[in-house]
Amino acid sequence: MKKIAILGSTGSIGTQTLDVVRENGDIEVLGIAAGSNISLLEEQIREFRPRIAAVWTEEKAKELRVRIADTDTEVVEGMDGLIQVSTMQGAEILVTAIVGMIGIRPTIEAIKSGKHIALANKETLVTAGHLIMPLAKEHQVSILPVDSEHSAIFQSLQGNDRKAIHKILLTASGGPFRGRTQEQLMEVTVEDALKHPNWSMGQKITIDSSTMVNKGLEVIEAKWLFDVDVDQIQVVVQPQSIIHSMVEYVDGAVLAELGTPDMKLPIQYALYYPERRYLPGDRVDFWKLRHLDFEEPDMDTFYGLKLAYIAGRRGGSLPTVYNAANELAVSQFLKRQIKYLEITEIIEDCIRAHKVIEHPTLEQILETEAATYDRINSRR
Ligand code: NDP
Ligand code: MG
Repeated sequence: MKKIAILGSTGSIGTQTLDVVRENGDIEVLGIAAGSNISLLEEQIREFRPRIAAVWTEEKAKELRVRIADTDTEVVEGMDGLIQVSTMQGAEILVTAIVGMIGIRPTIEAIKSGKHIALANKETLVTAGHLIMPLAKEHQVSILPVDSEHSAIFQSLQGNDRKAIHKILLTASGGPFRGRTQEQLMEVTVEDALKHPNWSMGQKITIDSSTMVNKGLEVIEAKWLFDVDVDQIQVVVQPQSIIHSMVEYVDGAVLAELGTPDMKLPIQYALYYPERRYLPGDRVDFWKLRHLDFEEPDMDTFYGLKLAYIAGRRGGSLPTVYNAANELAVSQFLKRQIKYLEITEIIEDCIRAHKVIEHPTLEQILETEAATYDRINSRR
């Protein structure tokens, strides 16, 4: 039995990871962690019988302890709880399906305790890639991409020499507002932005997909995962989301991974790599599909993507500012405190104001996050 632990088990990636576990029947889930959804956590505890379950707040942890008093699962809480799940003895892989920079410390601790990381939590790599990648090398653990584009790139790299990469072609659906102008985006509501054409995902990443900040984060994520310059990464809009990304080699050959939009494929690939397993579900029918479309991204309207190239190229603490500003701005937009276009305006403002720290330590990353939050909060 393969043994894993999952951060963010109640979310979109977390629940699909548990679907993959259930369908395969040969993975043991030793630990799970969530924020506050203790009803779902209770169901998961009863089905998967993990040794530990972590909850973010003390009150929710207390409540969960009462609810599952008849089971053998221990309930832990807060950052210590997340770290306990991340480093638990016996787990070989940690699936990081938590949302946001809160994943940095648990991911670092998991690597130090020798766990392979099935990484969905891109915010961690965007902000701390310069710490995580060397640490993973030092501890000889793999960072296995769960993000569909990065999984596609990883699959397209199998059997090839990474030194022969000429370019990475990172595909994007373009989101629900593809083809619109800034003016047409002025009155976008939360409901409009939450309607993704192809993928069903958590709220934060769905908003990020609509602004194309998600693609920006993915450019920086790819830079770390595949050790390329951001300028070697070209974003290509592929509205059907069938081509999940491609690699162009020095000889001009382009290798791609195609499939229907279903996160279970990259999740399962990361969990069983290098093995491929049967996966039920829709398959691409090329007779019905008939054609695939491609476009250049509109980086003037969706300039959050352009800002990611600026942050990724400059490096240091600037990607942290990009990410942290986006995290807070998106949460304010979801609470209807700011307008849609302000999300990108806020990111730009924070990037302009920041004095870059080269090679920031973990503490400096967290300080940069706090300073970015202070700047945004002082606007209101
Ligand atoms: P969701 O919002 O659906 O889920 C987030 C998970 O994190 C939930 O389990 C949530 O718990 C948990 N969580 C939030 N805050 C805390 C906290 N303080 N302590 C512990 N757990 C916490 O997000 P997604 O699954 O969509 O995304 C997860 C990550 O994967 C993100 O980084 C995203 O960018 C990435 N990703 C997602 C894809 C997708 O298809 N969804 C595709 C590619 C990448 P609770 O339910 O209790 O709030
Ligand atoms: Mg993606």
